[in-house]
Amino acid sequence: MDVEKKKTKFKLPPINLRVLLSVVFLLFGVLPIFVYGGIVSRTNFTSRVDARKIELQTKCLMLSTKLTRGNFLKNSDNREVIRSEIDTVADIYNGRIVIIDKSYTTIEDTFNLATGKINISPEIIGTFNGNNTNIYNKTKSYILQTMPIYENIDNQNIDGVLMFIASTENLVSVAEGVGNTERFLYITLTAIVFVLSVIIGGRLLRPLINLRDDISSIGYGKLDQKIEHNEYQLTKSISENINTTLAKLQDADKSRDEFVANVSHELKTPITSIRVLADSLMSMENVPNEMYAEFMQDISDEIDREAKIIDDLLSLVKLDKSANTLVTEQVDINQLIKQILKRLRPIAQKRDIEMTFETIRDVSADVDETKLSLAINNLIENAIKYNKDGGFVKVSIDADHKFFYIKVKDSGDGIAPEYRDLIFERFYRIDKARSRQTGGTGLGLAITRNVVHLHDGIIKVSGKEGEGTTFTVRIPLNHVKRRDKK
Ligand code: ADP
Repeated sequence: MDVEKKKTKFKLPPINLRVLLSVVFLLFGVLPIFVYGGIVSRTNFTSRVDARKIELQTKCLMLSTKLTRGNFLKNSDNREVIRSEIDTVADIYNGRIVIIDKSYTTIEDTFNLATGKINISPEIIGTFNGNNTNIYNKTKSYILQTMPIYENIDNQNIDGVLMFIASTENLVSVAEGVGNTERFLYITLTAIVFVLSVIIGGRLLRPLINLRDDISSIGYGKLDQKIEHNEYQLTKSISENINTTLAKLQDADKSRDEFVANVSHELKTPITSIRVLADSLMSMENVPNEMYAEFMQDISDEIDREAKIIDDLLSLVKLDKSANTLVTEQVDINQLIKQILKRLRPIAQKRDIEMTFETIRDVSADVDETKLSLAINNLIENAIKYNKDGGFVKVSIDADHKFFYIKVKDSGDGIAPEYRDLIFERFYRIDKARSRQTGGTGLGLAITRNVVHLHDGIIKVSGKEGEGTTFTVRIPLNHVKRRDKK
């Protein structure tokens, strides 16, 4: 059986911008100097060693010439002067000079350690063969230089070898001294760059910090402010976006206040009427039964009205909440419209309004049946309510490969263009008195529009004033479930 492994994703904690900036400054400010300094001091040391090598070579050449001229190898009696010079040179360079004759015997050693001993080191053999040695041993810190000693000035026969081993300790200690000074400089420089990076980083981040502070004050409900941080392009565009959002929030706030005021007003109206009716009944004495019945009927009508407003409000709230939960299924739209027409026919007949249904194409679509039924019902009910007696209501259905279209046309007074957007607002009624008379709450079209939008559809009003109204609804045949933004 497979055991499902849950991958625990490692998440980095949010980065502190100030720290990040300081690190970047330090890296770019100090690192190149460190690298450059390192290279320079290494090159310095190498060139000092090279210079010392050349110096030793020259000294060896000079000594070897003197040794040839003074016939040092052959004439053992007259060696003192050159010997003391050799000792001096060896001392100056803190080194050791060894002279080896043709038989590889050490005849002179400034350390007096190897005199009389045979020396067949590769360097000596190499020099007898015409290959001088000039090497630097880094680990043991010395330079080794060999130089042939010729028989006499005019011929090139090698009679012996001069070997000079000079210590480079003093060069190393000079380099160490320089290194210490450099280290001190680096530490000072790092400290300066660090302090500067903290100060400059703080300056650079200031606009962002100010922006953050302003934004957090919005969180406390301060919506009536304008954010302006134009220091950087980024802060400018963030400010602009926030201002747009703020304006929308303020609008939403305003429309919510208006809505609450409207709801209170609408709910109060029937209650006020009930109170007036009840008060007048109570103030009258010996009220005849018929009048009692009439008043009670009025009170009952007002209660119905109150209930209708509450029902409609609840429908609206539910629609807002269920934005993510449209329960869609394949529905026969023709059948759905027929049922609505059947339900509303008695009301139309009362006013002698003729209702017809034209099917241009049979439609079956992916919709939420209950909600769509409510929306179409509102449109047809309005077409009857705002019609003239003896008029008509024509409902038609059509479709193409993507959408289906429902049209509800009536022979009423029509809607003036300036009201065509407003009628979809909650509680908006063109003729308050008429709407009240017909039992309208002003919420029907708001509900209808919500339902249509939830189905990703659109709703339009058309028609000439005085010649009736046509509402057209267009809804996709297939509903695509989307993740609604909360
Ligand atoms: P109501 O409950 O008042 O009918 P609606 O939201 O359904 O509320 O409609 C808003 C207003 O739009 C109505 O009060 C009415 O003035 C107008 N209206 C709606 N449908 C029609 C129509 N078919 N013809 C004329 N006016 C209409």
